[in-house]
Amino acid sequence: MTVQSGVRVAVAGAGAFGSAVALKLARGGTDVTVFDPAPPGQNASGVAAGMLAPVSEALFDPASRGHLDVMRRARALWPAFADSLGIALGLAGVRIEGSDTWRGEVEARLRDLGVPVTDHITEDWRIDAPGALAAMRAAAESAGARFVQAAVTGFTPGALALADGRALAFDVLVLATGPGVREGRLAPETTALAPVKGQILRTAPVGLEDTVVRGEGVYMAPGEVLAIGATMEVGRDDLAPDAEATRALRAAAKALRPELDLDAAQVDVGVRATTPDGLPLVGWSRAPGVLLAVGARRNGWLFAPLVADMAAAYLNGDNPGPDAAAMDARRFEELET
Ligand SMILES: Cc1cc2nc3c(=O)[nH]c(=O)nc-3n(C[C@H](O)[C@H](O)[C@H](O)COP(=O)(O)OP(=O)(O)OC[C@H]3O[C@@H](n4cnc5c(N)ncnc54)[C@H](O)[C@@H]3O)c2cc1C
Repeated sequence: MTVQSGVRVAVAGAGAFGSAVALKLARGGTDVTVFDPAPPGQNASGVAAGMLAPVSEALFDPASRGHLDVMRRARALWPAFADSLGIALGLAGVRIEGSDTWRGEVEARLRDLGVPVTDHITEDWRIDAPGALAAMRAAAESAGARFVQAAVTGFTPGALALADGRALAFDVLVLATGPGVREGRLAPETTALAPVKGQILRTAPVGLEDTVVRGEGVYMAPGEVLAIGATMEVGRDDLAPDAEATRALRAAAKALRPELDLDAAQVDVGVRATTPDGLPLVGWSRAPGVLLAVGARRNGWLFAPLVADMAAAYLNGDNPGPDAAAMDARRFEELET
């Protein structure tokens, strides 16, 4: 499907994907409105650690191991993207710390990935996720995008249905609902998504570290508040903090920095949506007029500028680039229920 100029685009979801797509479209002169029932920042994008970390992800997330090249292409878009938003990129990198045995395993994995063996990965970067989300929204609004607090419940080309009963005239729906839409009603492809609950601890930093520290079963991202993450609770989509599920995370953090006070740590919870292969679904759905931008797993921030570029290319009938096949929105058709 190629969209003519003058179309009205609705985006469902104001997380990293929906906001980045809206920004890209608004900057290109498209009439775009973002719908989301949640207050700004109350989603996985708002609680994330903001790592833009292809090498760490390939090292420590089995589902991301085969995606180093695409993750690097996504990260390469960030300097210009961050610059256009006026947000800082944390370039201090990721330091690997742990027992000799574990560091030996990490070195072997680095060799397998073809990455130079090091205990300081300088090509993994970071942003402040809540700040970036707010900056994207402000920039999208400046470029003409509108944000409306309402849930999308139905769509056919020309008619967008909202949970509050309104029916509005839109030609295209970009589905960027994270784990929020999985039953196939808005797009059959969403039934291939699974939720992965993530809990992340936030506490006062110790010392003046500027690198992210990566240990066995934990990362610690510095800043005014230290972010210690994150659990991967496959199949869970509730937002309840759960001390039992964070026990291993706390122990891993204390093993690296015994002086940390984790009793008073704030627990933030978000739910990621994952596909079976760990890459998002990007492109036209079989549902007419619906374009998918969902299933970011652990890398929604890393992928946001790339997914926005691809979504805009699909809408404009341009070439979506080298990652179109790997992220094909219909590649799990056999899993649809
Ligand atoms: C603890 C934790 C740490 C993380 N750390 C990182 C990290 O360091 N780096 C990284 O790249 N990624 C990280 N992630 C993953 C990242 O947060 C997600 O991949 C990313 O936020 C997904 O963005 P999204 O826009 O697809 O979804 P979301 O942020 O979940 O946004 C989806 C939005 O859709 C809305 N919505 C749902 N249903 C509807 C509907 N019917 N109509 C309209 N709107 C709807 C929701 O309210 C929500 O606001 C982390 C995730 C967690 C939980």
